[in-house]
Order: sequence, then C-alpha cells, then structure tokens
Amino acid sequence: TKITIAIDGYSSTGKSTIAKQLAKALEYVYVDTGAMYRAVTLYAMRRGFVDGSKNDISLLSGSLSEIKLRFEYNEVLGYSEMYLNDENVEKDIRTLEVSKNVSRVAELQEVREKLVHMQQEMGKSKGIVMDGRDIGTVVFPDAELKVFMTASADKRAYRRYKELLDKGEKVTYEDVLKNVESRDYIDSHREFSPLRQAEDAIPFDNSDMGLEEQFERMYNFALR
Ligand code: C5P
Repeated sequence: TKITIAIDGYSSTGKSTIAKQLAKALEYVYVDTGAMYRAVTLYAMRRGFVDGSKNDISLLSGSLSEIKLRFEYNEVLGYSEMYLNDENVEKDIRTLEVSKNVSRVAELQEVREKLVHMQQEMGKSKGIVMDGRDIGTVVFPDAELKVFMTASADKRAYRRYKELLDKGEKVTYEDVLKNVESRDYIDSHREFSPLRQAEDAIPFDNSDMGLEEQFERMYNFALR
C-alpha cells in the first residue's frame, strides 16, 4: 500500500535530489514545496515588494489571490517544473537572489496558510514524497515515514556553490555559505511553523554519505 513520505531538513542538504529519486523508484508523486515558496518570492520580487521599489513585504498578503501555482510534469526531464501564473519559472526560482529573499517571504502567515492548504490537497491521494521544512510537523503530521536531513553547514554550502557555478551563476562560496546559514536561522526561528524535527522523524545526517548510500537507506525506510 502507498504511503506519505515527509522529508524535512536544513537548506541544501540534498532533500530534493533524494526525494526525487525515491519518488521515481516507488512510482510516487514528488512535490518540492521549496519551489512553491520560491515562486511566491519571485512574484514578490517582480512586484517590488521585497528589496524593490515598494520594499514592503506585507503588501504581498493583499496580492496572494493573484498568484496561481502549479507543477507540470516534464516528460523529457522526468520531473515536474514550477509554473507561476502559467509561466515556467523553474530556472528563475533557483537563483541566489531568490534564495536571499525566500525565507522572509516564508515567514508570512498568509503565505504559509495558502501553500500548506495546496500541499495538503496534493497529498490527498497517497503515494507522495514531499520535501520542505514543515512537512512532518504541519502539512502531514500523520505521514507514515518522516525523515529529517542534516549535514554540516560547510558541506551544504559547498554543494550548493558548485550547483550554482554549474548553472553559470557568478557567486562566491562565502556568499552561498552566508545564505545557507541565514536561511537556516530565519527558518528555525520564525513564529509560524518553524523548522524543527518532528518527534517521530528519522534523523539523517548525510555529511559523509554518497548519493547511492543515501538512496539505499531511504528506500529501505520506505519499504519497512
Ligand atoms: O527547499 P528550498 O531550499 O528550496 O526552500 C527555500 C525556502 O523556502 C526555505 O529556506 C524556507 O524559507 C522556505 N520553505 C518553507 N517551508 C517549506 C519549504 C520551504 O518555509 N515547507
């Protein structure tokens, strides 16, 4: 029988890489909730609500009804891409600029309510792997399998740094490390559903683990 799998953890721990693989192997649906918060952030940046002309993040709350999000499966890539008001924003949401603003947007209660509701709707049919920060604690507190991923901050920053370089972004390691640390801080100290490990989650430190080992362990958790 199909189950619900919640994967939470700190920034750049490789949650989505492993969640994607797991979903493919189990023939489950994969949902990247970070992409949803990033898409809302991109919208807020374009409207000038964060670090822009209007520079008032609370303005976003009044515009939430104008934001339409959906995932669309890309057959060629083999995974789903994020659409913001019918535009494919998969690339635009992965920049360091968006990463720098996303945690402030994710603090807003109205934003969280909207996205958590969407996520719960997606999870109504079992057979889902969802990754994020509050999946095991808020979105699916009854998930059959919960994993909480961690890794040392420098390993995480280095992985993310290489990823951004590969995509052609001009970034420094120090900048990426600072971003990873500041997101973790804001994410775990915010008022609404802060990042924390669910009591029944399996802690998973992958600082010294390759992808294959991670996948094998996760797959075994899911089959138990
Ligand atoms: O997973 P990813 O690093 O793409 O998430 C980007 C940001 O979105 C996180 O740093 C966090 O601020 C926010 N987020 C969240 N709750 C989730 C998923 C992401 O607050 N479930």
